[in-house]
Amino acid sequence: MEILACPKCQGNQIIKSGVINSKQRYLCKKCNYFFTVNKIGKKIDDYYVTKALQLYLEGLSYREIERIIGVSHVTISNWVKSFNIKKPSHANYHPTYKIFNHLELIEYIKNKDLLSGAGMIITELGDKFMLIKWERFKD
Ligand SMILES: [Zn+2]
Repeated sequence: MEILACPKCQGNQIIKSGVINSKQRYLCKKCNYFFTVNKIGKKIDDYYVTKALQLYLEGLSYREIERIIGVSHVTISNWVKSFNIKKPSHANYHPTYKIFNHLELIEYIKNKDLLSGAGMIITELGDKFMLIKWERFKD
């Protein structure tokens, strides 16, 4: 599932151009820019850092976040510390979350009863969707 586009011009005429520090180097034929796959990897990291911090703020535990995004709870804990994130207390509601593919998401939302009496957000997660739902005033 490698998606290669030039980080500089977004062009897709990419050719392999040697290996540097055990990373594949590529050359964009359009703008002659050299880059390694590491730069693409970094972009994905940023995406998961943001998702992890969102989930943490929504009240999920490190281990729950680990199960959802597949990053170790130790790493997530380090991200929370390095961004100095403080979680507000969630005394009155408990978030629950579900992971759906597109069709499952549509089926879920069709049922009005599931949408009543709760707030929810839907966020993209890789090739799936995550629905976080707050059921208020329940134990
Ligand atoms: Zn380019």
